[in-house]
Amino acid sequence: ENPAESHVFEADVARLLHMMVHSVYSDKDVFLRELISNAADACEKLRYEAIATPALLANDPDSRIVLTLDEEGGRLLVEDNGIGMSRDEMIEALGTIARSGTRAFMERVEATKQGEGAQLIGQFGVGFYSCFMVAERVDVVSRRAGADDAWLWSSDGKGGYSVSPIDVSEAPARGTRITLHLMDDAKNFTSRWTIERIIKEQSGHVPVPIRIAEKPGAEAMQLTDGTALWTKSKNDITSEEYTDFYRGISGQYDEPALTVHFRAEGRHEYSALAFVPGTQPFDLFDPDRKGRMKLYVKRVFITDDAELLPRYLRFVRGLVDTADLPLNVSREMIQESAILASIRKGVVNRIITAIEKLAESDNDAFLKLWETFGSLIKEGIYEDFERRSQLMALSRFRTTASGEGYRSLSDYIKDIKDGQQAIYYLVGDSLEQLKASPQLEGFRARGIEVLLLTDSVDSFWVTNAPECEGKSFKSITQGSADLTQFSKVEQGTSASETAPAEVQAFIDFAREKLADQVSDVRASDRLIESAVCLVAPEQGYDRQLEKILQGAGR
Ligand code: ADP
Ligand code: MG
Repeated sequence: ENPAESHVFEADVARLLHMMVHSVYSDKDVFLRELISNAADACEKLRYEAIATPALLANDPDSRIVLTLDEEGGRLLVEDNGIGMSRDEMIEALGTIARSGTRAFMERVEATKQGEGAQLIGQFGVGFYSCFMVAERVDVVSRRAGADDAWLWSSDGKGGYSVSPIDVSEAPARGTRITLHLMDDAKNFTSRWTIERIIKEQSGHVPVPIRIAEKPGAEAMQLTDGTALWTKSKNDITSEEYTDFYRGISGQYDEPALTVHFRAEGRHEYSALAFVPGTQPFDLFDPDRKGRMKLYVKRVFITDDAELLPRYLRFVRGLVDTADLPLNVSREMIQESAILASIRKGVVNRIITAIEKLAESDNDAFLKLWETFGSLIKEGIYEDFERRSQLMALSRFRTTASGEGYRSLSDYIKDIKDGQQAIYYLVGDSLEQLKASPQLEGFRARGIEVLLLTDSVDSFWVTNAPECEGKSFKSITQGSADLTQFSKVEQGTSASETAPAEVQAFIDFAREKLADQVSDVRASDRLIESAVCLVAPEQGYDRQLEKILQGAGR
């Protein structure tokens, strides 16, 4: 018999484990959801590999997850008959962190208040290591489907782990068995009542049946049936069930802001279940972040990399399940498939329609969604030409007329001044800064509304959106602001009474003094209180965009 090989954890794993064990998470239950989600993933991977290699299923085609309680031994066992892991896969998967951005993640967790950190664990996919929150030792026995060897990985979650071969008779016929030797204060995880409650709360809709055995060797009873929730009819699904499913698929613990579930029949047949999260996922602006819609073919998980949604909808989580693609669909086929292109279009339409409906039926809920994801929806204004006007209609803004609320572009146009050809906007870093801007004075005095834009995406879409209901967008920090045709509603201590000759003399003086710094000096209607302000030329970039581009080193 070979002796166990010892390995040390990669530095990031060690740090992560330390963090997990030493922070007092309010909610340790999450470890179970993470283990079950890994077990279910392993079953889905096996189903997928078995399409090409049916022999992998041997004489045991149905996947399952079995939890075994061992109160006397102070242990909890989680076993699946999924794909399993080879020795090398174990070392890779359970000793390192493959994902990029780990450091950023950990810094974020360390900066987060205790208790809230747990929310991030599932999202980041460092799920497995969370079992060290409750276990003083973890043994993982695994046998890869089709392999004739089995391996034991064992660790106390401190510095390292050992890996040793074990007799196949001590391993599952296929798949993985994880044994948690529970810490003294975590022995309640051998209570049937506790485990059942947690499974119902967190994992009730995992698409693999879950069973529970009350003690080692006892017969396992079914806890959940593993029916895919999305195949059920909407009327048979409660909102708790949707939320539970959403939490499983998103790794978030909040309530979804919007649930879109439909079955398309006709040209293509597919089901889609999509959620708009209630809060922002932390990696929304990570450039590596991929879309989060999973593709299933006839209930078999194929990939989460099928780009089922455009980039700007990357906050939406969910899945599409279709019977119209072959199970052995390849990456290239996915890229080029006309069926998927049509499904994509259908799904995006339904999601946007659902957001539109929310805006009509529940303004408060819609505004909350807008505050959470509006900046992404605005990316769509320049990315998704086809839906541009729809997305502009959804957009809400702070303006000089909005007060604490929001205004839509149609509100703006409804109240537009006679003869006003442009929708005026001002872009900057914060609302306070914008409200104090001298550039606004002339507009305010004449009661002309100005959009106050503070998202970094704003500089881009405004220069890209040519018009809205016949009006173009115009930056008030750019070019001349011809406001003479609009009469002032309130009189400021206006400089307009000053003799034009004096103004001209001052302009000549300023032009000479600032010759190297500005391209021109002009008299303007846009100021009331302030003496001068900077504007960008008519052609070229607006001032805020100029700043962004300078910041990006352009
Ligand atoms: P993630 O699930 O996001 O990949 P985890 O930390 O939860 O991250 O799991 C790490 C990896 O360990 C998984 O990607 C998988 O390769 C492997 N793994 C964990 N549990 C199992 C299991 N029950 N069966 C097979 N592989 C597993
Ligand atoms: Mg996982």
